[in-house]
Amino acid sequence: DHSWVSIIEIDENAISKKSASDVVETLRTAFATGRTKPLKYREGQLKGLRRFLEKCSEDIEKALYKDLRKHKMECTMCEIELVLNDLRHTIYDFKNWAKPKKPEKRLVNILDGVYIYKDPYGVVLIMGAWNYPILLSLGPVVGALAAGNAVILKPSELSPATANVMAKLLPKYLDPECFQVYLGGIEETTELLKERFDYIFFTGSTMVGKIVHQAAAKHLTPTTLELGGKSPLYLDETVNMSKATRRILWGKYLNSGQTCVAPDYLLCTKPVQEKFLQEARKVIVEFYGQDPKKSPHLSRIVTERHFRRLVKFITFENVAIGGSYDETERIISPTVLINVSADDPIMKEEIFGPILPIVNVKDAGEAIDFINSKEKPLALYIFSKKKDVQKMFLTKTSAGTVCVNETITQLTTENLPFGGVGSSGMGNYHGKYGFDTFSHHKAVLVKDYSMFTDISLSLRNPPYTPMKENM
Ligand code: NAD
Repeated sequence: DHSWVSIIEIDENAISKKSASDVVETLRTAFATGRTKPLKYREGQLKGLRRFLEKCSEDIEKALYKDLRKHKMECTMCEIELVLNDLRHTIYDFKNWAKPKKPEKRLVNILDGVYIYKDPYGVVLIMGAWNYPILLSLGPVVGALAAGNAVILKPSELSPATANVMAKLLPKYLDPECFQVYLGGIEETTELLKERFDYIFFTGSTMVGKIVHQAAAKHLTPTTLELGGKSPLYLDETVNMSKATRRILWGKYLNSGQTCVAPDYLLCTKPVQEKFLQEARKVIVEFYGQDPKKSPHLSRIVTERHFRRLVKFITFENVAIGGSYDETERIISPTVLINVSADDPIMKEEIFGPILPIVNVKDAGEAIDFINSKEKPLALYIFSKKKDVQKMFLTKTSAGTVCVNETITQLTTENLPFGGVGSSGMGNYHGKYGFDTFSHHKAVLVKDYSMFTDISLSLRNPPYTPMKENM
């Protein structure tokens, strides 16, 4: 039953009633009182967020269904549980992360106190994307709250049901003077970005990332940019093709390819391509049935505009598998394209849909050259059992993250920082990395008044006698 509007009224075009400057002012005033700083308060906020995810999971699932036709299992596995995991880990550990650190001392500082304090930045803006609207909005919120900041969250207007659920229900679980959800589209976001923030954390496209970075530069606001791009996958003949194909296609078609770290395109030789296609035909039927358009396990393409952009890529002479779509439901069946060249439109932009083009290369070296001729990707996938091939990719290419013989799960490995490089972004988060991202690392040196310290300091004072100069 997805007729849940009775539970929460959804306004698809909801925009925040308060002006951007009023919202920022409220948060700034509350932050200035110092109330977000005590660890007990932060713990309360983190537990509030946890309660929201636990108590409102049904509302969240219904909203995700409305926005993207996301299957309940994907809502739990890829959104709610991932944030809950981060929360559990953070609630357990953040008090240690928050303690002033004592770096190793050199001889000259032997009597000094040398510390690194982790200070909250202040009022931080978090902008989320629509493809995983819970994970990509609330994931960064975990680090920001743990670090003691006041937060303004701007979810994407393209997943309005989920944005509404957060805007309506989160204030019941979090301190509304230190946490606010701001709703709106491009116009409202443009206004919002004129405000002065102490930190901006943005998830979205490279193009909008540049707009955000420019707006931040006006106030010299530090930013983390979690962007996208074309994530390549190299496949060779040494792998177990049946297992590899399942891992590859799960990562590609999850949320209908609308995943920032989805493998964008596949690089392999022609003989490997033949083996892959043979397996892929079987795996797609196994995952989504004979007519995948009817499968409840495939998400919907987010908007008509995105749908039209994607179907243009399906040129029938290139279709090896799939290629059909349902316009009213905005579903595209899992598709594999062959005979694709670097100049084809599909190789010019991030696909962000369930279409996998295969570009043939003669070997790993040519694949590396191909990857290096493009912008640095958010993720690089290597499917090979050969250690020297794995090493060659790791040492000769640059990417935000790398995953060998698997897809996507580098993102869910708590102890790894998640973020891009070059045009796929800057900065990172998850677990302690998120806490550190939202903390200013303040250097603190404390001197004493002992005789030894005083004598050593006096040596630097004018007049600069020859004796002092020669010391
Ligand atoms: P987007 O850049 O269109 O939108 C992201 C946010 O920017 C939204 O909140 C939106 O309201 C706002 N926005 C859009 N246009 C704006 C403008 N002109 N001025 C100011 N704000 C504006 O991104 P999207 O379509 O939501 O997400 C898809 C992209 O995000 C893909 O490139 C994908 O790879 C990337 N992505 C990256 C990650 C990551 O973690 N690195 C995760 C998910 C998505």
